[in-house]
Amino acid sequence: MSLTLVYRGPLASCNYGCEYCPFAKRRDDRAALARDRRALARFVGWIAAETTRELSVFFTPWGEALVRSWYRDAIVTLSHLAHVSRVAIQTNLSAPLRFLEQADRTKVGLWCTYHPEWTTRERFVARVHDLAASGVSHSVGVVGLRRHFSEIEALRAALPASTYLWVNAVKSHGGGEPYTEDDVAFLTRVDPLFSFNRVHHPSRGRSCLTGERVVSVDGDGVVRRCHFVDQAIADLYEPGSLDRALRPRPCPNATCGCHIGYVHLEDLDLYRTYGDGVLERAPAAPLIELGRRANARSSSRCGPSPAFETPLR
Ligand code: SF4
Ligand code: SF4
Repeated sequence: MSLTLVYRGPLASCNYGCEYCPFAKRRDDRAALARDRRALARFVGWIAAETTRELSVFFTPWGEALVRSWYRDAIVTLSHLAHVSRVAIQTNLSAPLRFLEQADRTKVGLWCTYHPEWTTRERFVARVHDLAASGVSHSVGVVGLRRHFSEIEALRAALPASTYLWVNAVKSHGGGEPYTEDDVAFLTRVDPLFSFNRVHHPSRGRSCLTGERVVSVDGDGVVRRCHFVDQAIADLYEPGSLDRALRPRPCPNATCGCHIGYVHLEDLDLYRTYGDGVLERAPAAPLIELGRRANARSSSRCGPSPAFETPLR
């Protein structure tokens, strides 16, 4: 059975400092960067040796990883392994993308986030057009802050028509006013799947593919079912440990509000929506079809939650 490993090493720094990001403005000193590099090398070595099953890898760093050469090198290396079917990463798209020329681009996925306070639309959009022209699977995302609405509209107009633009709901509204109906209508026009992100999905007891077909791995090789359930289930580097751990498990948490979590809830059926682009959040279906499916699945079961969470996950 295929397995997806969602890797988050110790790297915690970012070259941007978005005020809505709980991980902004952290610094990694040289020792911390060296530790992150060693941890990644060990992880890549494990993947290279694990040839008995099909693997996908998704890098979800706290900060920005593509500004570090070892992540760019890892993507190139992993993309050329026959048993690796996908290698995806979350990025602010600020780093040079020339490394992709060395990769098997048919296997790479980029989850690109746009931060209007830290780059220009022209610069960001030019990079997305390069990605689209080179056939790299990608999505683009923004935080649905009301002060960004005009920028979101301009971004949608400037992106390639084939690039999916998603909007992450500000569930806490920063202590301000919740979205109005007009706000929701606007954001849903931009992102036909906005309704899925607008809520914390009740998840306790529901079937979620994490722990069986998807696992989270940290820099020490501690395996958890997902980033949101703290209990360790295996040690990646102890022979046999992972195989003994993998099995179906219902979700133990009350709710799941981040895309990288709820996308694995089986009854949301989002694997069908995203297809091969499930890690980088790039839907397989045309936007009009997405809108139809999202409407059919009215989210009346799930009430909006005031809890703050990672804004771009
Ligand atoms: S939201 Fe992304 S780009 Fe902005 S500071 Fe956080 S990690 Fe960096
Ligand atoms: S539903 Fe979310 S919180 Fe629950 S196990 Fe799945 S990914 Fe983790």
